[in-house]
Amino acid sequence: MFDKLVLASNNTGKLRELSALLAPLGIEVMPQAKFGIGDADEPHFTFVENALAKARHAARGAELPALADDSGLCVVALDGGPGVHSARYAGDARSDERNNEKLLAELSGRSDRAAHYVCVLVLVETADTPQPLIAEGEWHGEILEVPRGSGGFGYDPLFLIPELGQSAAELAPELKNTLSHRAAAMRHLLDRLRAAQGR
Ligand code: IMP
Repeated sequence: MFDKLVLASNNTGKLRELSALLAPLGIEVMPQAKFGIGDADEPHFTFVENALAKARHAARGAELPALADDSGLCVVALDGGPGVHSARYAGDARSDERNNEKLLAELSGRSDRAAHYVCVLVLVETADTPQPLIAEGEWHGEILEVPRGSGGFGYDPLFLIPELGQSAAELAPELKNTLSHRAAAMRHLLDRLRAAQGR
């Protein structure tokens, strides 16, 4: 098993959550910015293809195993949008605030507010590996009519977890990191990693 990993993201919210999820493994985790690696292109229609592209890009640049996350919010009333376009929903500037404003505007007057987050994690040992490890997680909730809370990132102030009566931005980071799509994907990835090591 490797002892160092490059995280293929420049999103500080994701880096914080992924680093916390990986901490128990005792692997040294380095963000790709440390190697001067910029964002990979994400031209694909699926989370898994984009995650794979990001992982390969970081592994090639850092010459290390790489972990990438491609994630997004899928809203039923928006036919699954913004989906893979979640980061740039309101334009290339990638503003969480403007993305949230646009989401509220698109859902204005709509009563069906069901939504889920999706996270696909891809771990590659080398840039050219023919066997990437792939895992997926989902987190189901509803879109609020006004933002609540100041934690998390992205759409969290608008993402209500009905069972808790709280938005994702109102949860303690430790709790979000047990319930979230990213946490679920990480659990599956670790299962796959253990299985791969046993082969
Ligand atoms: P990516 O960097 O292309 O994977 O874009 C992910 C985008 O999905 C983020 O910029 C957020 O807009 C959204 N997103 C993914 N995960 C979360 C989360 O845990 N909370 C809030 N927004 C998220």
